[in-house]
Amino acid sequence: MRVAVLEKNGDKGWFLLDGDRARRFDGSPFEGARLGSIEIPWTPADLRAPVRPSKIVCVGRNYAAHAKELGNEVPKEPLLFFKPPSSVIGPGGAVVLPKESERVEHEAELGVVIGRRVRRIAPAQAMSAVYGYTCVCDVTARDLQKKDGQWTRAKGFDTFCPTGPWIETELDPSDLAVTCAVDGAVRQSGRTSQMIFDVPTLVSYVSAAMTLEPGDLIVTGTPEGVGPLVPGNHLVVSVEGIGELGIGVVGST
Ligand code: ZN
Repeated sequence: MRVAVLEKNGDKGWFLLDGDRARRFDGSPFEGARLGSIEIPWTPADLRAPVRPSKIVCVGRNYAAHAKELGNEVPKEPLLFFKPPSSVIGPGGAVVLPKESERVEHEAELGVVIGRRVRRIAPAQAMSAVYGYTCVCDVTARDLQKKDGQWTRAKGFDTFCPTGPWIETELDPSDLAVTCAVDGAVRQSGRTSQMIFDVPTLVSYVSAAMTLEPGDLIVTGTPEGVGPLVPGNHLVVSVEGIGELGIGVVGST
């Protein structure tokens, strides 16, 4: 099932996509919304970010080759950090490069959308808490990440969490291609099977610290090949079985 947020003529809502037709939910699919029967046409220009999370929990250094390219050790436990919900943008949006940073980089990642409220769920049950999957770019001001000593600002600027194009609910996340292309050139190409900590382990680990709410987003780490963005770039993050998230890049205003 492919679930998206569409906005048409200023009216925004949750829809089930079926080819070029869409059926509207009567509310949020995370809160048991029912599906209407009327089908309408949609186009990619109607897509908006398919999440409105209470929190975005990200995982650092979850691919060994990426930890190595930045000169870091592979962590013994998942390394967690937050991005604020205010950093989310949807398909067709643009990353705004802040004037405070001289080096902003892309990190293509698999996003896990939580479907029900859980706390301390065991790895064996953790997949029952997952609603579906989407593509995320964990945009990072690399210079500020080093300078600040912690990552709140480097990961948290407005527009630093492009998400979409929709949520795919039926997907096995254990071995999917994750890629990032900039202006048509592939910069990152990995597989989720290379993750140090897999999706059930991550959901369980995060839930041991904090209650996960429906709609929350866990962003699972990036493969090697991260690199800088400049104004005018066009970024495409793709995850096998989900689709492609296209994003622009503009300078600070
Ligand atoms: Zn990341």
